[in-house]
Amino acid sequence: MAFVLELQTTSNQHYIQNYIIGITREFDINAKIYQTSDKIVCAFASEHEKLQECLDAIAQKLPASLFLKSSTSYEIEEEPESLPELKNPYPLNLGLCPSCQKEMFDVSSRRYYYPFTSCSCCGGNYSFLHNYPYERANTSFKFMVPCPDCQSETNSVGLREKHQTNSCHSCGIAVKLLNKTTERYANDAGSFRTMFEVAAKALQDNQKILIKTTFGYRLFYKADKMHNDSILMMINASKITDHLSLITEEFNALLSIERPILNVTLKNETLKESLGANTAYVKYPDDGFCILLGAELQKIGVDFIAYEESDENCEADMLMDYDLELSGQSDMRFFLNKDVSFIAEGERVSFPSANFQAKSLVSVSDRFVGLPDGETMFFDVIEHFDSVKVDKANVLEGVKESYHSNQTLYTQEEASFMSVIAEHNLFGERCVGAYFDEEPSFLYYDGKNVIRIVPPKTFDSSKLIEDMATLREGSDRLVVNLQKNMPEIYAKLERLQTKENVKLFEAVAILLGLSDESMRGVTKEAMKFVGKGGIQMDTHVKDNRFDHAAFLSSIVSYQLADVSTSILAYSIFESFGDYFNDILQELKSKTKANQIILCGTHFANQSLFSRMQRNLKATPPFMNKVYPIGKENAVVGGVYL
Ligand SMILES: [Zn+2]
Ligand SMILES: [Zn+2]
Repeated sequence: MAFVLELQTTSNQHYIQNYIIGITREFDINAKIYQTSDKIVCAFASEHEKLQECLDAIAQKLPASLFLKSSTSYEIEEEPESLPELKNPYPLNLGLCPSCQKEMFDVSSRRYYYPFTSCSCCGGNYSFLHNYPYERANTSFKFMVPCPDCQSETNSVGLREKHQTNSCHSCGIAVKLLNKTTERYANDAGSFRTMFEVAAKALQDNQKILIKTTFGYRLFYKADKMHNDSILMMINASKITDHLSLITEEFNALLSIERPILNVTLKNETLKESLGANTAYVKYPDDGFCILLGAELQKIGVDFIAYEESDENCEADMLMDYDLELSGQSDMRFFLNKDVSFIAEGERVSFPSANFQAKSLVSVSDRFVGLPDGETMFFDVIEHFDSVKVDKANVLEGVKESYHSNQTLYTQEEASFMSVIAEHNLFGERCVGAYFDEEPSFLYYDGKNVIRIVPPKTFDSSKLIEDMATLREGSDRLVVNLQKNMPEIYAKLERLQTKENVKLFEAVAILLGLSDESMRGVTKEAMKFVGKGGIQMDTHVKDNRFDHAAFLSSIVSYQLADVSTSILAYSIFESFGDYFNDILQELKSKTKANQIILCGTHFANQSLFSRMQRNLKATPPFMNKVYPIGKENAVVGGVYL
């Protein structure tokens, strides 16, 4: 007999499965543990005397995950006959699991205040990887000989079995803390603790500290110094809801092992005022350095701190650094509302990954490559691989290098669209879809090939003012009035005309008079609107393409009519939601497609997405599951072009 535990998951990564395997091996219980496309199935030998104890340990230690949904259990006849084997051919960058965190704060442990604490299933292990196969000799830890205790952990069953970058105070790496006049080193529990204490106090004294975390350099400072690129790090879990207005799903997501960045609503009035927004990008400490710094800050009564992604050359009052080669990944930004969640952008947790059936080709996007590895395709950054023999290469437009004599180029939109088809196995089905990243565009898949039915129209700002003035009869007056009544905005538009690569939403933000001149700024402004229903913006189509001048002129006329900026920003997304829906429905009926697909990171926007959800109620759209909806998914879709 076997007791079967089934955990629903939307992830295809193995860290949760490995976690259960690690604990099961520790209890020496025979089990068959495997993962299918939507669940982790764990069949444990029911006769084992310690089964209950093992299940309790799993319930207690298993990290919360963004991708874990419900669980069920039942019994089957078949009895598992061997211990389950770990599946960790490649590392990921994850937050710390509850056991590793506990160990860092346990005075009696070998890793008290050791910021590189991690296990086979958690921590920033990917950052230290140089190439495959994944073994210590191919990581930044290759010259560090593990102490007998660490060695024995790596060779024994448990959560650190086969942990390639296992280390502790006695065999690990020293960290230095430098300011303009002094240098201090940390190489044991006491000195590490003092170092984080000193750093926390300096932060409270308004200093800026640059820390080389296991996810790369981050510049920390007090929240009152936050700017548009800053992220608010909540360090006191019990006080998170004092400062943020969260739904349960958001709270759980923040504390999950994936530790994503979320865009959430602020409750703290001082923060709202200093940020000039109702929302902020927020995260909970993810790596050992941030967790230890957070613990020291919490001791001196600090509930949150701000940081930004940075590099080693950044100016700061203090630097916390160490000599270990590290390559970062872009962080994961997660989108969720009450019913839907997906990865908005970022590389962390989604890559590297093994997925889909192997094909004899390579797919190359900016930094990433997908290539056949055994029975599946494998996706990771190019520098982790040597050459591989395949029949052809599919390469993202704009990539300069030549990878194969038989090389085909693909576009970002086509590849993103195909990645959704691959993730949901919609091959052979007629689908229409929209891609939205700065510019809207529409695609059609006839079951075999994908075409850009409405290609993106690159925004050209060089004649912006003239384009608006000649739009239709009387448009010239609109431009004259803009110049007269809003001279600052007009001057900024003039400057835009001489700038290269201007984004449509940069122009929108400028017209709205926002300080964050980007899509992000417009999104933030829209979140200030609390009413119901906005106003109609001009999102009409000219020659089958989105008409930039008409859309921007429509914003100008509302601005001149004194419509509040937040209603305007909100209305822009509401109108875009209707625009996407109108075109998608039209294409769907023309092509007789059954499915609708949405991709592109700009759909990760509460105002726009809720409108899309309402509009597409009858045919809920397909979106990426394990890969971001953002441009990172191109390497995946590129396999199928
Ligand atoms: Zn761990
Ligand atoms: Zn050690």
